[in-house]
Amino acid sequence: MDNKNNLEQKIAVIGAGAVGSTVAYTLMVKNLASEIILVDINEEKVRGEVMDINDGLSFSETQNVKIGNYKDVADADIIVLTAGVAQKPGETRLDLVVKNKNIITSIFTEIGQIKSSTIIIVVSNPVDIIAYLVQEISGLPKNQVFGTGMGLDSARLRSNLAKRFNIESEQVEGFVIGEHGDSEFVAWSTVSIGGKMVKDMLKEEEMNSIEETVKKEAYEIINRKGATYYGIAMVVADVVEAIILNQNKIIPVSSRLNNWNGVDNICLGTPAVIGNTGVVKLWPIELNPIEKEKLKKSAEIIRQYL
Ligand code: NAD
Repeated sequence: MDNKNNLEQKIAVIGAGAVGSTVAYTLMVKNLASEIILVDINEEKVRGEVMDINDGLSFSETQNVKIGNYKDVADADIIVLTAGVAQKPGETRLDLVVKNKNIITSIFTEIGQIKSSTIIIVVSNPVDIIAYLVQEISGLPKNQVFGTGMGLDSARLRSNLAKRFNIESEQVEGFVIGEHGDSEFVAWSTVSIGGKMVKDMLKEEEMNSIEETVKKEAYEIINRKGATYYGIAMVVADVVEAIILNQNKIIPVSSRLNNWNGVDNICLGTPAVIGNTGVVKLWPIELNPIEKEKLKKSAEIIRQYL
């Protein structure tokens, strides 16, 4: 994408680990900010990442990528939260909850008052729980704080189906819904390619096998290379682009549900319209009774951890 529209966006990425530094790099490559600030408690690591990304500036319109502190974050237009611990092989995302809740609470205490129009994109896991926590502690309207939710899982579904049908993945529509974790599920009633429902083209066994592949993908990657970061960085860039260009794009994110298919007052991955105020509205799809039951189960799991 070529963004020669002089975007005056200050984006702060908190956490310069595998995900945070790849997000900063991707935002630079896609020319999505005039200023990118990277913050991490590991000073040597963040310095190294910023130096490395700066080596690419002569090929980008973004000209300002630098190290920041918590005070620099408070007036950012967009904050991308990636700090915390990541899954180790064999761990679930929910195993991270206590450590990451403590880390994120201390970060927002340090940041203090945030600019009232700032939008916060939460990536740190378990993303549905951390998004809820940040909605509570940031003091911002809830629509301005949301998690990447099912963005990555739905992208995995779309690219798997694209390969299966030999069709470009942008032409595959549909969502993985629920917890960004083991209780997530493919809402096949939403999945179509070129106006044709995928559930009418595949046998049930194949649909189950594709769903399993999508759900296990993170584990498969982490077992082999220790972390996942390229896909999630593209998801964050897609969300950032929808915000700054006010695209009103439907993206599956983790935002506060208000009687969405019978689930209320927790954050879970559902399709939402993303524009320059954050979540403009949840997309009102009607799940079938089996999917509603799966959503309820996902909600019960998340609620236990809140
Ligand atoms: P990582 O360990 O490589 O990086 C985490 C970084 O956070 C480290 O550099 C660490 O120094 C920093 N950090 C810790 N405490 C901090 C603090 N108080 N202030 C600032 N920085 C602090 O981990 P990663 O692979 O980059 O993953 C980051 C998070 O993103 C994890 O929770 C992971 O599970 C999550 N993740 C989410 C998705 C998604 O789809 N939502 C995808 C991939 C990873």
